[in-house]
Amino acid sequence: MRVSFLYHALGVREQECSGIRYEDKRIILQLQTREEKLRCPCCKSKDIICSGSHIRTIRSVPIGSKEILLELKFQRICCKTCGCIRQENVHFVTGKQRYSSKFKKLVVELSRIGTIKDVANHLHVSWDTVK
Ligand SMILES: [Zn+2]
Repeated sequence: MRVSFLYHALGVREQECSGIRYEDKRIILQLQTREEKLRCPCCKSKDIICSGSHIRTIRSVPIGSKEILLELKFQRICCKTCGCIRQENVHFVTGKQRYSSKFKKLVVELSRIGTIKDVANHLHVSWDTVK
């Protein structure tokens, strides 16, 4: 999948797509940060070693009636410059949230024209997520 599509459709700019799965009403994209974009989350140094990773599923904005899920590989980074050992920062996910910043923005926009229940039903998420 093209990097420009990921950016313009989903707000993803530093990751590459390594696979796509189609499941019922969902499209699942497997993403990982491009190697040249990986850097230390503390000092921003590129002098790093990747030591392990884990996958988190992040909800993104729908395309048509299809839910978009991002299976995002988070690298654990050891920095040779400052000694920091941390999980990489991904620009479109805040903390441990399970949705992208673009999804959050869509919820806010839809909340202006509908109730919390309407938005939750439309996006197939819980009332609590919208609230
Ligand atoms: Zn560092």
